[in-house]
Amino acid sequence: MLKYLREDIKTLKSYEVNQEEFRVKLDANEGIEWMDGKNRYPDDSCTILKERLANKLGKKTSELLIGNGSSELIELVMKAYLEYGEIVVSISPTFSMYKLYTIINKGVYEEYPLKDMQKLDVEGFMEFVKLKKPKIIILSNPNNPTGSIISRENILRIVEDCDCMVILDEAYIEFADVEIQDYTREYKNLVVLRTFSKAYALAGIRLGYMIGNEEIIEYINRVRSPYNINTITQNLGLEALDNEVEIMKNISLIKIERERVFKKLKDLGFKPFPSQANFIFFKGKETLSYDLARKKILIRAFSGELKGYYRISIGRPEENDLALKAIEEALNETGHN
Ligand SMILES: *Cc1c(COP(=O)(O)O)cnc(C)c1O
Repeated sequence: MLKYLREDIKTLKSYEVNQEEFRVKLDANEGIEWMDGKNRYPDDSCTILKERLANKLGKKTSELLIGNGSSELIELVMKAYLEYGEIVVSISPTFSMYKLYTIINKGVYEEYPLKDMQKLDVEGFMEFVKLKKPKIIILSNPNNPTGSIISRENILRIVEDCDCMVILDEAYIEFADVEIQDYTREYKNLVVLRTFSKAYALAGIRLGYMIGNEEIIEYINRVRSPYNINTITQNLGLEALDNEVEIMKNISLIKIERERVFKKLKDLGFKPFPSQANFIFFKGKETLSYDLARKKILIRAFSGELKGYYRISIGRPEENDLALKAIEEALNETGHN
């Protein structure tokens, strides 16, 4: 799979960090010890965190790459693979950062508009792919903001039939009613991204990981900045992995709340879309987010072709109650238009 790699990355060697044992360490200008050893640079290879994750996922550590949020990992794939002017394909609507990262990395972004927000028409998508000849396809699965999911069959079909790299961004996969599985041993052109920001509710520590074929991981690691994951984040990531039971409980609660919010929105006369993530996408009147903001309730509003569409995150029951109550009040004040 050297095939898709950027020409000048093919011969680039990654930055080597010296990890010898020491009695006295004066080789990195780190200053005098204080704050519990945090004067030292972090472990560049995130050894313990990677071992713990590898264990949980049934992978080798060489099949993983840790990122400062999965956002960093999206960008690392682009840095490793995208030559000037090459195409990145995704669907629309989706996570707006894909377009931004493509442009920042001198690529050209092409989006396939979803005709049905709930379902990707794979035939049409693959025709689009054949036409655009992308270097990278990136798909959010479940999709932000629609909350819809692409079936396993369709994902594998895309990965098999395209002639490029595929980034499967699974930021919300823990909330989906599907078996969590990656196919990165079977497919060398596939990388899967996950994050601690959503199901683990740790957006503040910036931690994500990539699963990929060993060879691909080695290539992408070449463009990573050394010490990208700070010591505090590595430690907190481990702590989160020690508390999986609590995480699972929170995920269950969010799934229950998601159905309750969905039903209430429907009862209020909105058109919510079924969701496999921790948010609900729905259509409302154009002033809704302003009416709510005046009540200090924030939901995400979209613009352009998606004017009048909203995304509400699922929070704690009492937060959802407050939001739903404010939405109901906004309707009583001005109606649906
Ligand atoms: C929230 C989100 C991410 C997560 O980004 P982090 O950098 O890991 O916080 C990635 N992709 C999508 C589609 C998201 O919605």
